[in-house]
Amino acid sequence: MDQHKTPHESVNAMSQTTLVYCDAPSTDYIVADQSLLPLTTCKADLHLHTTHSDGSCTPIELIDHVVAHTDLHVIAITDHDEISGAHIARDYAQGRGVDVIIGEEISSREGHILAYFIHERIAPGMSARDTIRAIHEQGGLAVAAHPYDWMVRSLGRYGLMQRAAGIQPEWAFDAIETLNSSLFPRYANVTAHQVATRLGLPMIGGSDSHQLRTVGYGYTLYEGRNASDLRTALRHGRTSPAGANWSYTDLAVATGRLVQRVSMAGVSLALRSIGLVS
Ligand SMILES: [Zn+2]
Ligand SMILES: [Zn+2]
Repeated sequence: MDQHKTPHESVNAMSQTTLVYCDAPSTDYIVADQSLLPLTTCKADLHLHTTHSDGSCTPIELIDHVVAHTDLHVIAITDHDEISGAHIARDYAQGRGVDVIIGEEISSREGHILAYFIHERIAPGMSARDTIRAIHEQGGLAVAAHPYDWMVRSLGRYGLMQRAAGIQPEWAFDAIETLNSSLFPRYANVTAHQVATRLGLPMIGGSDSHQLRTVGYGYTLYEGRNASDLRTALRHGRTSPAGANWSYTDLAVATGRLVQRVSMAGVSLALRSIGLVS
């Protein structure tokens, strides 16, 4: 490992998996020794965008890529404030060897919240508490997305540590995203990991991909065979985030797309997509 990298290591409930977070961007420090993982380990990228929000690939292109070029068993489509692409992806994925979770990255007033296993679109602009409640009313799971990202409105700034604590927390999250491959600098993931540990909440990982090249960079490992087993794994706190960060090239491509989007689609939509307005 390079000298300038400052790894933070921890071992969570899946004892075979060691997590290493680095401050330097890299695509080469995959952190889970997969040769040690049980054959029943499921690998899931739980944070993906398509053209139905601000991603560059269609749901069909995303499924074709996952099947042909990754070892992912499960994916979640989590478009900003939209689930139409997730429905298309799930239908198209039938019989293709990958399980699709209907997800949404909801722009709550206090930051982005990931919803999984929902059926209806949840509107942006509500408080985090009401957003979490709406997710649970559909039988879904609510996860704090990149809570310490300094570039977007983030739950960490609004008191995640206090509001998600206790037996009946105001923010009743089911898990925290502690590995988001897009984050610069890396300490945002480290802080999220530390807070999830203190709160005793399960952890997940995802690539936050807006383009095919970064799909699978970040992922969640758990014992099981499909998407529904993720619920069981989260309930027992037996999920393990792992993966690599976007490279500078990936970041440059994403930034270029964002700039293009601002000029083409208008300022308000773009700001909403990155969480600066709701
Ligand atoms: Zn986000
Ligand atoms: Zn996202």
